[in-house]
Amino acid sequence: MTPPVAAAAGARKGPLPMFDLAGQRVFVAGHRGMVGTALVRRLAQDPVTVLTVPRREVDLTCQAAVERWVADHRPTVVIIAAAKVGGIHANATWPAAFLYDNLMIAANLVHAAHRHGVAKLLFLGSSCIYPRAAAQPITEDQLLTGPLEPTNQWYAVAKIAGVKLCQAYRRQHGADFISAMPTNLYGPHDNYHPLDSHVPAALIRRCHEAKRARAPEVAVWGTGRPTREFLYVDDLADASVHLLKHYSDPEPVNIGTGEEISIADFAALVRDVVGYSGRLTFDTGRPDGMPRKRLDVSRLTALGWRAATPLRTGLERAYAWFCDAERAGTLPERGHDP
Ligand code: GDP
Repeated sequence: MTPPVAAAAGARKGPLPMFDLAGQRVFVAGHRGMVGTALVRRLAQDPVTVLTVPRREVDLTCQAAVERWVADHRPTVVIIAAAKVGGIHANATWPAAFLYDNLMIAANLVHAAHRHGVAKLLFLGSSCIYPRAAAQPITEDQLLTGPLEPTNQWYAVAKIAGVKLCQAYRRQHGADFISAMPTNLYGPHDNYHPLDSHVPAALIRRCHEAKRARAPEVAVWGTGRPTREFLYVDDLADASVHLLKHYSDPEPVNIGTGEEISIADFAALVRDVVGYSGRLTFDTGRPDGMPRKRLDVSRLTALGWRAATPLRTGLERAYAWFCDAERAGTLPERGHDP
């Protein structure tokens, strides 16, 4: 087992350490979600043992259960892909669940990883941790420089705590815990719940159902003017593995494409990919959320990683997966109603 990199307080610059993933026991926390399933797919390409645990066996918000499981199974690497996630509506509707669950998941896993000598931990956050009015493209150093976007502040505060936990355990204990902030994600195993999904899944589903019903129009939430950056989830998984191997610093690393698209253009692209020929309308009674969220990905690029999947290609894959899952009756529809 590779020992933890003992980092002094503050950033260590210079040549990057190479963390050897070969032979590690990698625990993917949250292996049933969109990110977790992509990580398990990606890790199959490396000579590692992947560990997972079903939710019915271990509730990650329960400290005693997490402690016990980590003590028994002795992972040497932990990836925190478990989270309570949801779109703009879910975040606004279930603030307590988004704050509590995500705080507990981060705290329990980071602490247990430290107590049981985990050699490397990757905490996955989200680009929504940055201030609403962050200068674009958003650099990692803008964290905690201004007020958050109110629609997702609960989730953001929990994710910021996760970043700080990694930094604190690194500073106090020399733990090699890193964090990464992915942009908006899409792909196989996304949540297709009509209200609680994110925009890619929501629009794929709505356009698909409108095509089938020959409905004349599909409603897009908000004005269509906000911009977002979308990353195919397999690219995120690949970037995560890259960071495990090549990154060991306290600051988070943004993961994205660096390219943004307006929600109106994105909706038109989804309509095209799905093959729906009706009109798109904009429901301005629904919130827009953050006006822009384009990540500065130069830190990641400097580490030698770039996104590989063009947006249209990724959406075609996501739609193909959606159609298969729908036919099989296995479409994930996770509502957050407690
Ligand atoms: P956000 O990046 O946290 O705001 O994540 P979302 O995926 O929930 O929303 C992204 C943008 O897409 C926001 O401006 C939404 O208003 C817009 N949007 C348009 N239609 C939909 C929809 O059907 N569902 C969701 N969740 N967002 C939508």
